[in-house]
Amino acid sequence: MTYPANPADRSPKGDHNRRLSLGLDTDDFAQAAGISVEDLHEYETTAPDHKFRTDVAERVGRALESLERSETGLVDNGPIPPSESAYDGLTEPEQPFGRAQPSMCPVSLEPATLLASNAEYREYRCPTCGTFRISQVALTLAGDDPEVLREALSVARHVTSAGEVPFVSNVSG
Ligand SMILES: [Zn+2]
Repeated sequence: MTYPANPADRSPKGDHNRRLSLGLDTDDFAQAAGISVEDLHEYETTAPDHKFRTDVAERVGRALESLERSETGLVDNGPIPPSESAYDGLTEPEQPFGRAQPSMCPVSLEPATLLASNAEYREYRCPTCGTFRISQVALTLAGDDPEVLREALSVARHVTSAGEVPFVSNVSG
């Protein structure tokens, strides 16, 4: 089914442009349409509002649609990345607050549970250190020095009432 359905309604100028956008010269396109180069030339150069051969117009229209479809097909059949590649492994989705996940205690450097993590602090549950919170600032300031954090956690425990979670908000350098 070609559009427009009536070949007499075709636009020779428009079809000419469509052929050009397909990158086909008159020889190739005439062959694809099953018409002679002369017929194609005569059709494409029809002056606006002048009559043209509808049998030629119909073949041109059919060839254009078929060629344009296969052009589109090439694009559509391109490699589609698998949905898993939406995550490249580097941008791990941030854990929603409250979902525990295996981690490592930054103080005693042993396997611990990361109970929560947000922009402000992380909450760990460690077999040795117990449950405590440590601010992102403190983690950054301490760098890779667990000794600094151990001291800070000890201080935090002293100022924390029973039943409350010690919070290491800062470290002394
Ligand atoms: Zn620990």
